[in-house]
Amino acid sequence: MKDLAAELEQRRAAHLYRSRRQISCAQSPELRVDGRSLLSFCSNDYLGLAAHPEVIAALQRGANQYGVGSGAAHLVIGHSHAHHALEEELADFTGHPRALLFSTGYMANIGIISALLGRGDTVFEDRLNHASLIDGGILSRARLKRYPHADASHLAHQLGETQGEKLIVTDGVFSMEGDIAPLSELANIARAHDAWLMVDDAHGLGVLGEEGRGSPSHLGLNPNDVPILMGTLGKAFGTFGAFVAGSEALIETLIQQARSYIYTTALPPAIAEATRTSLRLVRTDEWRRERLRELVRRFRSGAQQLGLPLMDSITPIQPLLAGSAEQALAWSQRLEAQGILVSAIRPQTVPEGSARLRITLSAIHRDEHIDRLLEALA
Ligand SMILES: *Cc1c(COP(=O)(O)O)cnc(C)c1O
Repeated sequence: MKDLAAELEQRRAAHLYRSRRQISCAQSPELRVDGRSLLSFCSNDYLGLAAHPEVIAALQRGANQYGVGSGAAHLVIGHSHAHHALEEELADFTGHPRALLFSTGYMANIGIISALLGRGDTVFEDRLNHASLIDGGILSRARLKRYPHADASHLAHQLGETQGEKLIVTDGVFSMEGDIAPLSELANIARAHDAWLMVDDAHGLGVLGEEGRGSPSHLGLNPNDVPILMGTLGKAFGTFGAFVAGSEALIETLIQQARSYIYTTALPPAIAEATRTSLRLVRTDEWRRERLRELVRRFRSGAQQLGLPLMDSITPIQPLLAGSAEQALAWSQRLEAQGILVSAIRPQTVPEGSARLRITLSAIHRDEHIDRLLEALA
């Protein structure tokens, strides 16, 4: 048996040890963390909906009607009217014929990819794709080919040499970089090679595009260009869960074959009710996206003046490149000493040598929050 304690010690010595904090309040820029007040730039609650009074009220109404647990998997007896209505509203929102709820984004990704592909097929993934997309590829038993980040011409070359079913998979907005995938090029390449294109828009939906329809809408694409659109509900939507939107045949295939859909308990219906309310707010509250754009501008212009190592991002994900894990951790600790919480992102989440601070902004940050962050970074 291997010596787990020794391995943990090595991890600590390499500045790669991870630990959890205890939060004792709702999501907000000002958090109570381990008993201290901290100003947070770590949350994916981009629109500030996680503790919105109308979303909370919808959750409570949902619990009064449906109770807490859904009782079973969707295909057994767990599929409620609330789930179904949310699926119809997500289909309408994304412009696809159908949508299907999953319990988490991780489960959606492994379920979709492994339902569509098998031995002899090939999945093409951007090198910086989210771990759940990579794991889905591995689980499917298809050949997994990774292409250099956002390198559409490299991908086109790889596709030209491939037989069998082909699936191109990319983050819409890259979760640790904040940049947007070259979706128009990917859509053209997919068409030219008779491949599926799947976009995981966990960080684009709600934040980018008309009514928050995400990175495809931001880039002027329509639903036909992205036949498989996956989104999560625990980020900009402020609730929990995930969905995939696509054709009637795609959704029915997933209901029959996606094992992480079939063999798991349905989300609590009250969560679906809360998400129906947050979806309405996502679509109508344009001011939240406008406010985010303002905050991104304020942060980037301040950071530029300070000469900080910004990355090329227009989204609320604004990483500062540190290089070594040790450096990223030291920066994060020094910010925390000044009452500011920013996560240090280290390998294996990002490639070796590209550890960074991952700063995320939310529509409910105030101007003075950004100014405090910039002062501390200075
Ligand atoms: C967060 C995230 C997921 C996983 O979603 P969960 O609902 O948290 O499981 C998948 N893909 C991307 C790009 C993500 O950022």
